[in-house]
Amino acid sequence: MQKSPETTVASHAEPGDASLSRRMLIGAGAAATVGLAATAAHAQSLQTTTLGKSNASAADLGPRNKALEALNPDAYMAPPTDHGTVQQFWQSFSQAHRRIQDGGWARQVNVKDFPISTEIASVNMKLNAGGVRELHWHEADEWSLMLAGSARLTAIDYDGHPYVKDVKAGDLWYFPQGIPHSIQGLGPDGCEFLLVFDQGKFSEDDTTLLTDWLIHTPPEVVGKNFGVGQNALDPLKAIPPEGRYIFQAPVPPAIGDDIAAMTQASPATSTAFDFALLDMKPTKEDASGSIRIVDSRTFKISKNIAAAYVVVKPGALRELHWHTNVAEWQYYISGQGRMTLFANKSDSRTIDFRASDVGYVPVTLPHYIENTGDEDLIYLEMFKSATYDDISLNNWLAGLPPELVQQHLGLTKETMAAIPKTNLGVVGGKKG
Ligand code: MN
Ligand code: MN
Repeated sequence: MQKSPETTVASHAEPGDASLSRRMLIGAGAAATVGLAATAAHAQSLQTTTLGKSNASAADLGPRNKALEALNPDAYMAPPTDHGTVQQFWQSFSQAHRRIQDGGWARQVNVKDFPISTEIASVNMKLNAGGVRELHWHEADEWSLMLAGSARLTAIDYDGHPYVKDVKAGDLWYFPQGIPHSIQGLGPDGCEFLLVFDQGKFSEDDTTLLTDWLIHTPPEVVGKNFGVGQNALDPLKAIPPEGRYIFQAPVPPAIGDDIAAMTQASPATSTAFDFALLDMKPTKEDASGSIRIVDSRTFKISKNIAAAYVVVKPGALRELHWHTNVAEWQYYISGQGRMTLFANKSDSRTIDFRASDVGYVPVTLPHYIENTGDEDLIYLEMFKSATYDDISLNNWLAGLPPELVQQHLGLTKETMAAIPKTNLGVVGGKKG
């Protein structure tokens, strides 16, 4: 359903404005028309309650943070269908601390300041051309999407075979637990990417850094390991006491030079640690938008993280659905939208999202994401799972005895016939 101009304008209204009561009327009317209220009596009581709120009741004498209210109009003046207390499922990289070093920066959202997200944490990183995220590994599996620019990756597989690859915007990579790797920005402008980890407690400050490790190992041991005298290790004394983490280096040579140098001792790996997500044909696509699903069925190394790259056209809706197997973690890439999370016991909460925001949906709880802007809404759905799974409300209803559905919802035959029958993923918009 296209969000009407009236609704958009009124959602930014001051309490006490005449438009406020009009918005409430629109909201209550929409709820009644759609007919998703459980019974006619319930719908009636919902409408009465909503209409019973006078402008004076919603008035806000202050203090107010009007900037935050404007960013999240659906929280400040919630749809009348919202109810109760649902745990916060919004965070944003835009208010995370940026660790800026010579060579680039990193910021993270993990369970510390996003407590609902117990299964997934994330890092957003920028590297200059030549900037290096130093050689390291970690306990969590790492999934990544290149957002802008390009980078050179290195790693080694379980059999000791080296890996090197240049990745561009729209490409993914995946490094399983314990696999050591590096990322280096390429010319002309370096790169920015999103890293997703299969542990809510993952912290970018707690990875195993090559330099940090070796300067905290007795030099005579390092010397014996390398088969050299300790004097040969003097250059290690120039390493900062906490390791390098991110540092500036020259832009690397042509990848052919690196391949030649890296494969002198062992042939290159046959493992694909990367995947060209945006070169892939969408899993589902129509005028309303598209979904690209990438999981271990298509990107074999990605055994613990499944992903969907979703485009919702202006006015369209990522349809009412839920996920059977695991919670959903979201990252908003561009555009703007809103999500209502229904959390049982009549509790429901609507929150607005914009680029760089993060969202979360507990396992099995139903939700939708509506494009509330005039450009494409693009976001990631991420799951700590080998496979992507969802259930579409429309698809489910189409597979039930029609009389059983009518007994629940009271819908007419015409309405029943109009509901899409398959799991389209994204619905509404221009064709709706
Ligand atoms: Mn890593
Ligand atoms: Mn979902």
